[in-house]
Amino acid sequence: MAPAESVRKRQKARLNEKVTESGTKGQKEELGKWGRAWEVDWFSLTGVILLLCFAPLIVFFFIVTCDQYQCSVSHVVLDIYNGDTSPLTIWNRAPSFTWTAAKIYASWVTFQVVLYICIPDFTHNILPGYVGGVQDGARTPAGLINRYEINGLQCWIITHVLWAANAYHFHWFSPTIIFDNWIPLLWCTNILGYSVSTFAFIKAYLFPTNPEDCKFTGNIFYNYMMGIEFNPRIGKWFDFKLFFNGRPGIIAWTLINLSYAAKQQQLYGYVTNSMILVNVLQAIYVLDFFWNEAWYLKTIDICHDHFGWYLGWGDCVWLPFLYTLQGLYLVYNPVQLSTPHCAAILTLGLMGYYIFRSANHQKDLFRRTDGDCKIWGRKPCYIECSYRSGDGAVHKSKLLTSGFWGVTRHMNYTGDLMGSLAYCLACGGQHLMPYFYIIYMTILLVHRCIRDEHRCSNKYSKDWKRYTDAVPQRLIPGIF
Ligand code: NDP
Repeated sequence: MAPAESVRKRQKARLNEKVTESGTKGQKEELGKWGRAWEVDWFSLTGVILLLCFAPLIVFFFIVTCDQYQCSVSHVVLDIYNGDTSPLTIWNRAPSFTWTAAKIYASWVTFQVVLYICIPDFTHNILPGYVGGVQDGARTPAGLINRYEINGLQCWIITHVLWAANAYHFHWFSPTIIFDNWIPLLWCTNILGYSVSTFAFIKAYLFPTNPEDCKFTGNIFYNYMMGIEFNPRIGKWFDFKLFFNGRPGIIAWTLINLSYAAKQQQLYGYVTNSMILVNVLQAIYVLDFFWNEAWYLKTIDICHDHFGWYLGWGDCVWLPFLYTLQGLYLVYNPVQLSTPHCAAILTLGLMGYYIFRSANHQKDLFRRTDGDCKIWGRKPCYIECSYRSGDGAVHKSKLLTSGFWGVTRHMNYTGDLMGSLAYCLACGGQHLMPYFYIIYMTILLVHRCIRDEHRCSNKYSKDWKRYTDAVPQRLIPGIF
């Protein structure tokens, strides 16, 4: 029997056992069906295949456009249209894989693995409000609760202290090292991204960590892209999702930006205020992520998405290359903003961050205290709801309708989008490329909103309807 088939049979048997214990046969269909899709429609399949084919090309296109055309997309398009160049010429002119880049990247990933495995939570009890150490994740569709070792903040601090010491004090490498190897590094990150996704795919068939939480749709492309295993792990603690989501990509984000700032300094003898603005706003976002890593266990990435190419390749390649596009653009096109312009963008970025953080905090506080807290100075209002996990058990939950969660159903996304717009505006209005980020984030978060609501509606059924009646808008009050 094929391993996937055997896992599927075991899941079914387990499901039947639980149904006999706790419900009727009709309920069987609904058990644990609120996770990611079990069946693939043509629309989803087309999207998956398009992404698999085009996402790597999009990353290559943007990075090479900066390298060869100073980030001017229209210049590339016109050159190709006029016959002055061809995609093949652009491809041939792009720097190729180098062993120097491979050594840098291998050392980087190995270092992050070592930190992830070995660093204890040394900030515990030192930093008030910070939650580290061993923490529980959310309940999986099969009814399990995974435990995680939270030490991302410590790893971020150690990495940045060592970076500053080596780049500026001991001069073991130049602070521009990342920028100087950027395209060769693109090939290396792709090798890791594809390897880890393929490994996770094979592992799901041969030795899954939690077989009950695996999902096989019967479509190989969808399974590869969206993942089969929910929480693939090696050993007890090496969790693929927590490591790849957070560590090689998000820790690198601030270092990549610092490397761009150092390159500006080297090329022009100064660092522009726009570069400082992008570095500061994005560093706040990254630090927020690590400060709240325990909260992150309750977000969609960790508690609902399965681990496939979408997360594996996305974290290794898409995130470090495209989330840092503004800094890269500013190396080729230094922009000095007027003081009012700079202040307005900073205000937008900070307001966005405030809404993003407060909304996330309100939901986290509400869920942690089971509603026994104050939101905007008052006892919170909420909707009582219930759902069934895959093991047939019925669980109670609550949906908050106070604070930002009473304004729209996803004010945390709205705040995130305001912050994203601020990074783009810092690059001025000369070129389109830095605005790719806000376009992408809007598509990502609107799609995520719809995907999440579909899942929540399956999970909570009529209780979810009561919630959407109480809070009718998704992102923008009165509009959407
Ligand atoms: P949320 O943190 O909004 O989590 C959604 C989940 O919260 C739902 O599935 C549901 O889960 C629960 N929920 C929904 N409504 C309520 C409510 N009213 N009261 C209580 N619980 C509710 O979404 P994400 O995990 O996607 O995002 C977390 C943050 O990360 C966001 O701020 C987002 O902007 C950011 N983000 C950033 C990305 C980036 O690339 N920069 C990518 C993705 C996210 P349950 O089943 O538990 O009820």
